[in-house]
Amino acid sequence: MSQATLTRRGFLKSSAAMGAVAALGISAADSLTAVDPAHADEAGEVKIIKTSCRACIASCAVLAHVRDGRVVKIEGNPESPMSQGGVCAKGLAGIQALYHPNRNKYPMRRVGERGTNQWERISWADALTEVATKINEVSDKYGSEAISVSTGGGGNPHFSNVKRFGEAINTPNVWEPGCSQCYLPRMGASLLAYGAGKPNNLSFSDSNGWDYYYTDSPVTSLVLWGTDPSNSSVATGGRALAELRNRPEGLRTVVIDPRYTLDAAKAEVWLPIRPGTDAALLLTWTRWILENEKYDEEFCRTWTNMPYLINPETRLTLKATEAGLPGTDEDYVIWDPASNAPVVVTYPFNEGVAAPLFGTFEVNGMQCPTGGQLLKESCEEWTLEKGAEICWLDAGQIERALEIYTDPNGQSGIMQGVCIDQYVQSQQCALGALNLEFLMGNVEKPGTMLQKFAPAPCKDQLGNTPRLLSKEKVMKRCGTIEHKGILCWDMAHIPSVFKAMKDGDPYQIHMWIERSGNKHVVLGNSSCLDEIVPKLDYVVQCFMYPTAFSVLCADLLLPTTEWLETNLTIPQLNTIVMRQAVTHLFETVEEGIIWTQIVQKCAELGNEHCPKAFDEAACMTTPFYKNEYEKQKQHLNKLEMSWEDACEQGVIQWATPEEYRTYQTYLAEDPENPGKPKGFGTPSKKLEVYCESNIILGRTGAPWSQCAEEAPLVLPPASADYEPLCYYQEPAESPLTDTEYPLVLTEGRLPMYHHGTLRNIPYLREIYPVPEMWIHPADAEKYGIADGQWVNIESRRGKTHGMAHVTTAIAKGVVYQERFWAPELLDSDDPAQAYKVMNINVLTKNDPPYNPEYGTYTLRGFQVKVSPSDDEILDSVWVRPEQFQPWMPAPSDATEDVFDYGA
Ligand code: SF4
Repeated sequence: MSQATLTRRGFLKSSAAMGAVAALGISAADSLTAVDPAHADEAGEVKIIKTSCRACIASCAVLAHVRDGRVVKIEGNPESPMSQGGVCAKGLAGIQALYHPNRNKYPMRRVGERGTNQWERISWADALTEVATKINEVSDKYGSEAISVSTGGGGNPHFSNVKRFGEAINTPNVWEPGCSQCYLPRMGASLLAYGAGKPNNLSFSDSNGWDYYYTDSPVTSLVLWGTDPSNSSVATGGRALAELRNRPEGLRTVVIDPRYTLDAAKAEVWLPIRPGTDAALLLTWTRWILENEKYDEEFCRTWTNMPYLINPETRLTLKATEAGLPGTDEDYVIWDPASNAPVVVTYPFNEGVAAPLFGTFEVNGMQCPTGGQLLKESCEEWTLEKGAEICWLDAGQIERALEIYTDPNGQSGIMQGVCIDQYVQSQQCALGALNLEFLMGNVEKPGTMLQKFAPAPCKDQLGNTPRLLSKEKVMKRCGTIEHKGILCWDMAHIPSVFKAMKDGDPYQIHMWIERSGNKHVVLGNSSCLDEIVPKLDYVVQCFMYPTAFSVLCADLLLPTTEWLETNLTIPQLNTIVMRQAVTHLFETVEEGIIWTQIVQKCAELGNEHCPKAFDEAACMTTPFYKNEYEKQKQHLNKLEMSWEDACEQGVIQWATPEEYRTYQTYLAEDPENPGKPKGFGTPSKKLEVYCESNIILGRTGAPWSQCAEEAPLVLPPASADYEPLCYYQEPAESPLTDTEYPLVLTEGRLPMYHHGTLRNIPYLREIYPVPEMWIHPADAEKYGIADGQWVNIESRRGKTHGMAHVTTAIAKGVVYQERFWAPELLDSDDPAQAYKVMNINVLTKNDPPYNPEYGTYTLRGFQVKVSPSDDEILDSVWVRPEQFQPWMPAPSDATEDVFDYGA
């Protein structure tokens, strides 16, 4: 096979053989150009180890084939209920990731200036002592809040460990981009409006819609709102959707996306919406459903707060005491049309009272609207015509989509993707979509998105936050008095942390401990790091590979394990899927252990706060595990199995599908209130169409603010009330007014990469070597751009590049590009180009306006201009397969673990 003819198919078929070739000592250069079947056949016995992939959040169960101690093949494990034996290109790339020649192999200390990429190898003992000494010094001199800790998302299994680490070293300034920009706005809105208890939101690829993994689900149609599972979660959500479509009854879909995606190609209606206008379309849908009386009136009356009266002075639900009725200040009030008077709600509902959903009624001298009335008023102006005009859509097509969604003979649901989390209206869009589902009664019925299936008997990867921070420290968390939604995950607001780092406002942050790949790729307006990092005394990065962030910012690099070297448990429908270390290379350490070791070392060196992290009473929940053995015990705490037995089994079925699929849990009897249904997890036990919990969050921080002394901790109010209903706000940079930057930019995912990772995998880069910039033919002609040509893309914050893909698969006036990095430029004279040359996040916006609740900034739906490019730097970008030879798998033997993991 020649270099030129090495194809994607060849990669997928031969990746296993490649591992074997490298193990046999054939050079990396040879292995890119030829597979020697004779040598491959000579190898020894193959052992198959059950584990699970972690190249993306889906955690597909896989079988790792190991020959002579080396992983030579990965294939899907058919026992997995979600992937059912499927595995995608990212998963197959696990071998190239594991044996990548450019891994972080040992702790490394910077010896030259930042940016010069000069390092010396040091021991783990020295590395830990150095980090712990710095933590203790900064804490003593400036206060522990002067240390910032960050991590990466994408379902990062160590997310909770990073939060714990922050609490252990006594800093409130822990953050992760996903808290404001991905997932949390959708989840937070659900927690407030639908109520506590997981899973509970409209995110299919990330956390819910489990009913759709069963082909007997009665779902007949789905609305894919800014989500493309066939592209972003190929082996799981995409596979499940394909099977639903393949049933005799099929599956009708509506896709709302500016791009003609894989799922759009299979949809009955494609709505190529203008990026940044989703809230306008949600309001248009709401008005149409109300006007055409398509909603489930009985469900709305019984199980939502639509009939509840609202106090116009407090903006909260009217209580009996305020209405002058007998009852308490916790009793809700509805209007009784028979007596033409207000009455106190008798939970769950007042028999024989047909409380109106709409209308305004005089109570105790106040004009009190119902929650439903306020919903109706919020969407009054949003006719089909107005929605079409603002969203750049066709009114007839919007109506066609609505007819599919509201078909009385079918069961539908809305899946919301990450796109709505990536601009200022994140919370509003999540509340708007939830309200559509509530109106239609699409809640916990067979075939709906919103379900609370039986919880898995194993550790919750995102929970168990110890409460070790004092009130004083919590009050110092950057940006969370204004943006209290992020307190749901006890995180700080990124632009506020950066302000503290750069300007010392409200205090100077001196140290940054970062665990993820490349913050230059994922953060909005990431060039701002150029000004921020010189203000920091000390920066630590933990990751598997050096990145632009390592070269430009880090003082110390700590090497972490790849997924084939890691142990974990993953709940997956009615099973638990095991991840077990298949091998171990160099001095890499699983990051959970790194956090623990640092905290232990800080304590050893005299830090008085750190010992609390290992004290069950102080943590109030599970303390930090001290070693790998304790971690395994914690993860299997409810399974009553040994780690070895669980690994042997690989996929553990803890319930039958029938036991797992528990519908209408809100109707089950409430053990604390015999004879009454449990209801939903909101204060009223009703679905909050009028989301007063959002107002309360902004005013007090409840239900998420907490500290060591108080839970809930009452915080000062935000500068303005958070709104209880969806509303529309035109993007700050808008094509309606911008003549200098005339095109709207949107971004998205690719099936061969996950977040900022995997761009260093040679075969994945062969499939997709450089980022495409999609542009409509009419726009391409206007700006003189030809298909396949390099282009400049510029915003008010910077300039980057992409390769033009001229296509009608993108709405006119819109351009799309995937976020990217160019690690092959790390050793160039200007390593900053490694993140600037093809990275859309040097264009994105991290300045106000922000989403009020989560502080979300603008990663999509802002203005750019494009032009043909002949910039010289583009000649250095690797495009041809042979250029990726330096990254081919290298021979490397398994090594002992670095630390004693206990027994
Ligand atoms: S979808 Fe692909 S990358 Fe994600 S877990 Fe499954 S095999 Fe791995």
